[in-house]
Amino acid sequence: MDFEKMSSKELFEEAKKYIPGGVNSPVRAFRSVDGEPFFTRAAHGAKLETVDGKTLVDFVCTWGPALFGHDNPVIREAVRKALERGTSFGTPSAAEVEMAKLVHEMIPCAEMVRMTNSGTEATMSCIRLARGYTKRDKIVKFSGCYHGHVDSLLVKAGSGALTFGNPDSAGIPADLARLTIVLPFNDTAAIDECFSKYGDEIACVILEPYPANVGLIPPKPGFLKHLRETCTRQGSLLVFDEVITGFRVAAGGAQARENVMPDLCALGKIIGGGLPVGAFCGRREIMEYIAPLGPVYQAGTLSGNPLAMAAGVAALKMIREGNPYDALEKKSMFIVDAVRGAAKERGVAVQTPMAASLFSFFFNENEVVDYETALKSSTETYKKFFKNCLDNGVYLAPSAFEICFMSAAHGEDDLQLAADVMAKSIKSL
Ligand SMILES: *Cc1c(COP(=O)(O)O)cnc(C)c1O
Repeated sequence: MDFEKMSSKELFEEAKKYIPGGVNSPVRAFRSVDGEPFFTRAAHGAKLETVDGKTLVDFVCTWGPALFGHDNPVIREAVRKALERGTSFGTPSAAEVEMAKLVHEMIPCAEMVRMTNSGTEATMSCIRLARGYTKRDKIVKFSGCYHGHVDSLLVKAGSGALTFGNPDSAGIPADLARLTIVLPFNDTAAIDECFSKYGDEIACVILEPYPANVGLIPPKPGFLKHLRETCTRQGSLLVFDEVITGFRVAAGGAQARENVMPDLCALGKIIGGGLPVGAFCGRREIMEYIAPLGPVYQAGTLSGNPLAMAAGVAALKMIREGNPYDALEKKSMFIVDAVRGAAKERGVAVQTPMAASLFSFFFNENEVVDYETALKSSTETYKKFFKNCLDNGVYLAPSAFEICFMSAAHGEDDLQLAADVMAKSIKSL
């Protein structure tokens, strides 16, 4: 069997025999858009080449990491150089120190940094660290915020202002989920109520400062500051999950853009320049609670891997030297404007939140402020929009509740093509 010569359809059939659902991460299965996935052969710049010979302008950007597009020559060269010296050492190496120093200099709260292999490991470690440091067990999260597949965090919410979580996944003990309190995003009254009941039991509040896993939801003015003040007053830690927003909305992440300093912060995706990486960082006093200095255990055989560090360091240096965010924002605006214009003409209601390199489309009459309002968006309309775009060479997030990513590699031609296709697709709805 020559895997290199197989079509997407053939590969998917074969994959389903050996991999659950045919994919190694569920959203890739295209179930939310009633489709079957295409398989990618290669990716360069802003484009994916499928095994079926199609070229697609890519607005998923490997779910965030490809801030500089695919196969960026500077990152490729850094990885190539590192590769010549070996792929893993199991001892400290210089690149880990360079990475930690860069993160410290770029992310405001990062007095100290520990590398992991994924965003999930990073948020999981933040939760354990917050519990170990505060000696409290309960944690607060917000409905619709995704923090990786961590047991305590795979808990969303029913309706209602204050829900003790029911797990979203089988296999999570109810006794554990009970320690997770789920609140609606952007609701300061719910936070006050929660803290007045459980204030001295709450280890931390964890959130995506700009939720980006139910579409993009901007925080209301003052919401993040209110959280900061509440946590400080109650002795709970404020944990920002910046696995998406870190290095995507500003060099210093959402905490720099919003001028709100968390105690701990999880990073991932972009920080690896396209290789598997995560990290968590924060106040020295708290970070020194981690082994080998402190009692909270956390480890990783491949953490700080030299190839991943080389790619990540190259990406962060380009960010620091090039400050790409104004240009990214302009490009996102160009796409969003094209969609809004077409939607207006066609009489389609669409909300288009954006922040620098992030944007999303809610087919919704009303502004989306939280999970509940996001869920009122039309998934049927999104499916049609998505399919139409894909058929015409533009790859958007394969779910109404995932966001789109702009990269520095998207050129004028890519953007014009995408804007035309997306506008046409809206008009045909
Ligand atoms: C993707 C994501 C994670 C999990 O990162 P993985 O590398 O997939 O484990 C955590 N938090 C947020 C906000 C994410 O978007």
